[in-house]
Amino acid sequence: MKYISTRGQSETRTFVQAVIEGLSRDGGLLIPERIPDLSDQLTTLKNLSYPKLALEIFKPYIEDEFSIETIERLVNQSYSVFTTPEVTPIRFTDSVAILELFHGPTLAFKDIALQFLGNLFEEILKKDKNPLNILGATSGDTGSAAIHGVRGKDGITIFMLHPKGKISPIQEKQMTTVLDDNVVNIAIEGTFDDAQRIVKDIFTDLDFKDQYHLGAVNSINWARVMAQIVYYFYAAFQFQKKYPNQPIVFSVPTGNFGDIYAGYLAKKMGLPIEKLILATNENDILFRVINSGIYKIGNVAETYSPSMDIQVSSNFERFLFDTFGKDGDLIQEKMDSLSQTSEFQLSQEQVQSVQKELLAVRIDNDQTLKTIKKYYDQGILMDPHTAVGVAAAESSSYKHVICLSTAHPAKFSEAVIKATGEDAEKPASLEGILEQESRCLTCSQDKDAVKKIIIEKLKSIK
Ligand SMILES: *Cc1c(COP(=O)(O)O)cnc(C)c1O
Repeated sequence: MKYISTRGQSETRTFVQAVIEGLSRDGGLLIPERIPDLSDQLTTLKNLSYPKLALEIFKPYIEDEFSIETIERLVNQSYSVFTTPEVTPIRFTDSVAILELFHGPTLAFKDIALQFLGNLFEEILKKDKNPLNILGATSGDTGSAAIHGVRGKDGITIFMLHPKGKISPIQEKQMTTVLDDNVVNIAIEGTFDDAQRIVKDIFTDLDFKDQYHLGAVNSINWARVMAQIVYYFYAAFQFQKKYPNQPIVFSVPTGNFGDIYAGYLAKKMGLPIEKLILATNENDILFRVINSGIYKIGNVAETYSPSMDIQVSSNFERFLFDTFGKDGDLIQEKMDSLSQTSEFQLSQEQVQSVQKELLAVRIDNDQTLKTIKKYYDQGILMDPHTAVGVAAAESSSYKHVICLSTAHPAKFSEAVIKATGEDAEKPASLEGILEQESRCLTCSQDKDAVKKIIIEKLKSIK
C-alpha cells in the first residue's frame, strides 16, 4: 500500500516512511491511497479474538512491508500487556453500551495505539542502523502512553516535555516513575503551549532534526490511527450479537479527531456504521464547523475533560480530504486560509456531506458532572471524557449507542469527586504511585536549553 498526502504535492510514501516521518513534506497528513474493503469478510472476522482481528485489519495496510508472522508477533506483544484478554470489553447498560478502552498500562485509550507503535518502531529499527529519538510535548495522556510504549526499547530514546505542575499528579507520576534509561522527562517552566512551541521550533530546525534523528509520536501518526480501527469492528460485532437488528452508532469524545477518524475508516472498510456522534466539550471548534461550516480558532477553555482541550483538530484534515473527493488543492486552500486568518469556511454542500457521516454535539462542564452522577447512582462510574460522549449520545435520538470510554475514572479524580463525592477505586497500576521514586529534569521555556538536554543525553549513550 502506498501513502499519499492530503495536500497532494508530495511523492507517495511506504508504510514505514509514513510511520517514521509522521507529517508529509508538503505539510499535509499521510493517508493510504485506497481504503481496503473487508465487507465480504465480516462473517469470518466477527468470531476472531481481538489480536487476530487486529492482524486481519492491519494486513492490507502493511503486508507488502512486513511478513504475516511479524505483524502477528507485534500484535500479540502489544495486546498481551492489557489487563483483560478481550483488550476492549464492552459493557451493556439499559441505555447505552460502554466500550472500555482503558485497560492498558496507563489506563487511557491512547495505550491501544502507542503500545503497538512502540513495538513497530523497535521492529523498524532492527533494519535501520539509525537510532530514533522521540520528542514530544504532553498535557497528560499522550506522554504517559508514549513513554510506556517505548520504555526499555533498543535504539529508542524518548524526550517528553510537560508543563511543570500543570498536569494532574497521577499523570505526572505515570511518566516520571518510569525509570528506564531511555526515558527523559522534562518539566518546562511554563504552560502546555510553551512546551508545544518548543517542540515545534525544534522540529522546524531541520538540520538538528536530521542530525539527532528526531521523530514524533503525535496523534497524526498513521499507525496510531490504524491501530484504533480494530476496536470499532470488535465492539460492533459484540453489539450485533446482543442487538441483531439495531443500527450501529458510536459516540466518541473528541479532541484531535484521531479516534473518531478511525471509526470513519472502519465504516469505509465495510463495517455498517449508521452514524458517528462527535462529542466535544466546551472546546467546540468541531461542533461549530460541523453545524455552521465555519472552522475558527478560539481560546482554549479549561474543562473537566482536559485531553479534549484543543484549539485545532489535526486529523480533521484527513476526513475532509476524503469527504471532498480527495482534492489536495482544496485542502491546501483551506489550510492556507487557516494559517493566514485563523479560520476557513465550508460551503453548504460541503457541510451536508460532513453531516451525513457525523452528528456533532457539545457538552458543557455542568452536563459532564451530571452525567457522571447519574450513572454513578446506577452503579457505573465513568471518567469525565467518557461522560461527554455518553451525554452526547443521550441527547441524540439514537438508541443503544456504543459510547467509547477513553479513560479510567481513577485518572480524573477531581471531576469524579466533584460529581459523586467519592473517589474512584484505584486499579493496581496506580497503587502507591504518588510515593514511588521518580525522575524528571526541570528546564526553562527555552528551546536551546531543551536542545542541550537532548545533545548531552545522546552523547552519554554513544
Ligand atoms: C486523547 C483523548 C481523547 C481525544 O481523542 P482524539 O483522538 O484526540 O480525538 C479523549 N479522551 C481521552 C481520555 C484522551 O486521552
